[in-house]
Amino acid sequence: MLNTLRSIVQEVNGAADLDEALKIIVERVQEAMGTEVCSVYLLDTSMNRYVLMATMGLNQDAVGQVSLGYSEGLVGLVGVREEPINLEHAQKHERYRYFPETGEERFESFLGVPIIHHKKVLGVIVVQQATNRRRFDEGEEAFLVTVSAQLAGVIAHTEATKYIAGITATGAQAKDVSFKGVAGAPGVAIGQSVVIFPTADLDSVPDRDVEDIPKEIKEFEVAIQSVRKDIEQVGQRLAAQLRPEEQALFDVYLGMLDDNALAGEVVRLISEGKSSQSALRKVIKDYVGHFEMMSDAYLRERAVDIKDLGSRILGYLQESEKTVRSFPENTILVSDELTATMLGEVPADKLKGLVSIKGSGSSHVAILARAMGIPTVMGLIDVPLSQLDDRELIVDGYNGDLFTSPSQDLRSYYEDIVQEDRELDASLEKIKDLPCETTDGHRVLSWVNTGLMADVLRSLDQGAEGVGLYRTEVPFMINERFPSEQEQMICYREQLEAFAPRMVTMRTLDIGGDKALTYFPITEENPFLGWRGIRVTLDHPEIFLVQMRAMLKASEGLDNLRIMLPMVSNVNEVEEALHLIYREYHEVRAEGYDVSMPQVGVMVEVPAAVYQVKELAERVDFLSVGSNDLTQYLLAVDRNNPRVASLYHSFHPAVLQALNRIAIDAKEAGVQLSICGELAGDPAGAVLLMAMGYDALSMNASNLLKVKSVIRGIDMAWARALLDKVLLLDSPYIVRSTLDLALKNAGFNRYLRPSRASGDQNQ
Ligand code: PEP
Ligand code: MG
Repeated sequence: MLNTLRSIVQEVNGAADLDEALKIIVERVQEAMGTEVCSVYLLDTSMNRYVLMATMGLNQDAVGQVSLGYSEGLVGLVGVREEPINLEHAQKHERYRYFPETGEERFESFLGVPIIHHKKVLGVIVVQQATNRRRFDEGEEAFLVTVSAQLAGVIAHTEATKYIAGITATGAQAKDVSFKGVAGAPGVAIGQSVVIFPTADLDSVPDRDVEDIPKEIKEFEVAIQSVRKDIEQVGQRLAAQLRPEEQALFDVYLGMLDDNALAGEVVRLISEGKSSQSALRKVIKDYVGHFEMMSDAYLRERAVDIKDLGSRILGYLQESEKTVRSFPENTILVSDELTATMLGEVPADKLKGLVSIKGSGSSHVAILARAMGIPTVMGLIDVPLSQLDDRELIVDGYNGDLFTSPSQDLRSYYEDIVQEDRELDASLEKIKDLPCETTDGHRVLSWVNTGLMADVLRSLDQGAEGVGLYRTEVPFMINERFPSEQEQMICYREQLEAFAPRMVTMRTLDIGGDKALTYFPITEENPFLGWRGIRVTLDHPEIFLVQMRAMLKASEGLDNLRIMLPMVSNVNEVEEALHLIYREYHEVRAEGYDVSMPQVGVMVEVPAAVYQVKELAERVDFLSVGSNDLTQYLLAVDRNNPRVASLYHSFHPAVLQALNRIAIDAKEAGVQLSICGELAGDPAGAVLLMAMGYDALSMNASNLLKVKSVIRGIDMAWARALLDKVLLLDSPYIVRSTLDLALKNAGFNRYLRPSRASGDQNQ
């Protein structure tokens, strides 16, 4: 059974489009289950009807013609109940509906299973049998449920391809197609998409057409020659160590590069106008699918070799791609997984919006985008990246929606929002040099989080009173090796000088999780529970010590450095780190630098630290809550995984209780308490944190003036009353709506994110 299932899924995965995928499904399921009929009905959301999309056993003419209302017939019943319905005498059921055009009256036994993807019913798969047949047995039902669950993702993906082209799954015209992702950075961007992809990653090569076909073919042939040469050389080098049958494998690869095999197919697609890279992706994907379907395990394994061959050819093609990419004025950068480096590839004045298929709103790249003020949508997991290049897109970073080929009406709607945002920003300018204090004089420090040099200028422009978090890993991430002590020192000095005499809190290198260094890869099963932050740097004192020296030297004469330790889960980590910091401090002074010992603090970002505030406070000068990680660890929701993004609630009652407890314990311990997670930049979050007693709020520069404007418009009693009220609530949704309502009633409606009345929500 497993083999049958695997081969169906593989075959469907390799289908060129939705129609072909559905055809394969009905044919193969009918065959595997030995039934007379197998059909797939898909729900067309624009009509709210189930349309017969493919069948084996019913009249083919009925395909695309027969449709049922949302809750009509047995198909509708399966959809509404979201569970299988298995009937021996379907015609006796009160919901049975008869369509003469399907020739259905001959069939009695009915088994319908919903096709559900991410909680959404996409359609129903049905098998039927003639009168003399018994009820489908339990095993058959389980098989169909398994097929449906496995294929739902593939169907969603192929459906999305159609939607991008402006047609619904059932072929009707789709208007203002939107895809639901996760809000990454607020704001709206309207522009032209450019897909950017890591080199030698075949899967993310977009579909592109070319004009100069002969040139494209020539480049492809040169790439093939280079790969051929590489393989021959490797073969010769290994000749002595390989058995003849292993040696023969190299001949197989060389054979594939022949005109009458893989290479020939690529050239054929190029001749039809495809770019060499797109054509290569398509052909390799077909080959890989073909091999993966083989029942022989050895041959199945060869799929890996084909992928390798594909990457090698791609590598040469990309090397020969000499033209520097030009970016349109309103570039919306799209990628499978955006990285900090990619953001830097587009000139800043042209980069208007970002789209990342992977990741979610709490991913580090989203945080970076927020700091840069670039509207971003993340986690569009079912959107086929290859179809997204060179399209007009609207990025709604408030609600996490992406629109392809928008209508004039929709464009005007969003242009108005862009204009309103601009006006709001301009109106806030006047408070940038005023203190962040309530109407009754309670003062909180308004700090910023920085990473790139560009953040510094933005932050100063917004009147930041200091830096509560400088993410030192950012300069590490955009390098090709660990930066030297001197390089680090220059970078840190820039930050310290720019803000002096205001304090700059530098966090020691916090890599791991979703922050990777290309030159120091960390591959592990559960990266967020693994080798991260202080765990890495304490294991590599040579990296930690160089960073400490660079920070200390950079602070000479300025004395505005504070050092902060990330991911602390044990007091001994603090002690070890302090020991190293003191050691470096004395050494740097002995070398003649006139530096003072900086304040050292700990981030409270794992649940263990919440319960050890007192013990941590005894050892350091300040505590700063990393609510981004604290939320992920308290709720057991990976901050980078879009599948569970809807469970990541910054206002979850458990998170609020933890934050409150930290504030109480920190006050008792007499230590300064700040917060540098994204919650501080949410106006409602900031009000609650201030009411809890946090001394400083550190946030993205983009949010600073909004937060300040709200705090300057309320008094402490109002904030405390609101806090008392929400601390009694038990649901994150009710907390959020209570806060929104309170802010709205207090006149801060314009800081609440605009939410569009639901249109065609296709994903
Ligand atoms: C946090 O975890 O809240 C934090 C500020 O650090 P980062 O987002 O860089 O992990
Ligand atoms: Mg963190």
